[in-house]
Amino acid sequence: MFKKNAWQKYDEKELEKVMKFSEDYKDFLSSCKTERECVSYSVNLIEKLGFKNIKSLKSLNPGDKVYAVNKNKNICVFVIGDEPLTNGINVLGAHIDSPRIDIKQNPLYEANEYAMLDAHYYGGIIKYQWVTIRLAIHGVICKKDGEIKNIVIGEDESDPVFVITDLLPHLGAEKLQKSGAKVIEGEDLDITFGSIPLKGNEKEAIKKNILKLLKEKYDIEEEDFVSAELEIVPEGKARDLGLDRSMILGYGHDDRVCAYSSLRAILDAGKCKRTTCAYLVDKEEVGSIGATGAHSVWFSNVLAELISLQNNNYNDLMLRKTLENTYMLSSDVSAGYDPLYKSVFEKNNTCFLGYGITFNKYTGARGKSGCNDAMPEYMAKVRKIMDDNNINYQTSELGKVDVGGGGTIAYIMGNYNMNVIDAGVPVLSMHAPQEVISKADLYEAYLGYIAFVKNA
Ligand code: MN
Ligand code: MN
Repeated sequence: MFKKNAWQKYDEKELEKVMKFSEDYKDFLSSCKTERECVSYSVNLIEKLGFKNIKSLKSLNPGDKVYAVNKNKNICVFVIGDEPLTNGINVLGAHIDSPRIDIKQNPLYEANEYAMLDAHYYGGIIKYQWVTIRLAIHGVICKKDGEIKNIVIGEDESDPVFVITDLLPHLGAEKLQKSGAKVIEGEDLDITFGSIPLKGNEKEAIKKNILKLLKEKYDIEEEDFVSAELEIVPEGKARDLGLDRSMILGYGHDDRVCAYSSLRAILDAGKCKRTTCAYLVDKEEVGSIGATGAHSVWFSNVLAELISLQNNNYNDLMLRKTLENTYMLSSDVSAGYDPLYKSVFEKNNTCFLGYGITFNKYTGARGKSGCNDAMPEYMAKVRKIMDDNNINYQTSELGKVDVGGGGTIAYIMGNYNMNVIDAGVPVLSMHAPQEVISKADLYEAYLGYIAFVKNA
């Protein structure tokens, strides 16, 4: 079989590079826990490297380094190639939203001597995994006067943290009879937020004291929650995992591991024959819908803008040709083989941690329902690129047939009639507060993405 453990390949010098790239990624993962944080981190990084916002451009030339941002939640980064855009571009698309718990619009209430925040989970989480762990709040509160307040509470050593409590085992006998899906339900995911009452004999004195603190520290009124986007995420930094430090444990590898390696691949590949692009998108975990999801027309709008900078006789056919001639890797994570849960995997068609970048010709559920079944001609082209560049790669399905399934943004981009295949990094404990990846897979994905954008 073609699958090989990537760790076997590395000499000492290469191993150093794997570890260095992992450190860079850990920094990204530790500081980017929302879509907006991913976008602003990316903008900071690329502006230092001379990338220009396409809004400031008058013309477009080979070698130009440009980017566009959509509503602070998506970013497209391009290095303009020698060929015209209408020949097609090479895209790495990944999502920067991750499963989490969002704060409701009217969240603050007092219940029996506690102030609580009412929450609504986002994406496919296993709810019982999110109780009794340390949580932080990241996000924005938008004031009526247009001010956007960035909020991060719980990451600094001196910050307080938050928690969703759980029942003690001594009193849990009845609850533990429930199924895993029901043992913690959606409305049980409320955050413990405070417990000191305001001095005096007021009603809801604990809630009032919290409101007083919010006003003093952040200039926030209760009504401001209505126009807020506050995400409850696990606190703390990504860490090395295992005595050999071969893996990384952290929140949000799905899909920030592919987002970061895709972005870095575009930056490090430099100018190529075709224009290269990293497309980092929101809302994948809830169906890729809305203005900032992959279904949005924003991506094609950006391409149209670039094409019109390259041609003063822009027409719609040019955009359609560009999209149709484009090659894309839908960079998303795969379910890595977990020896603790052997029964859900079919070993010959599963990815293993440490064996490199993983291609899913199709995802979907049951009879491949909802999948983007990549063209075998395209798969042949991609595997040649991987082999020619000595990239460790493997292929995978999402578990055994009929056990479950899932999807990515691949089929959406396929609607433009472009060639797309899913390619990413194997993950253990996907969608859990702490997910696991292998540093070797991260590095092979990064090298594989560079090889793809240079040669596709
Ligand atoms: Mn994903
Ligand atoms: Mn996911």
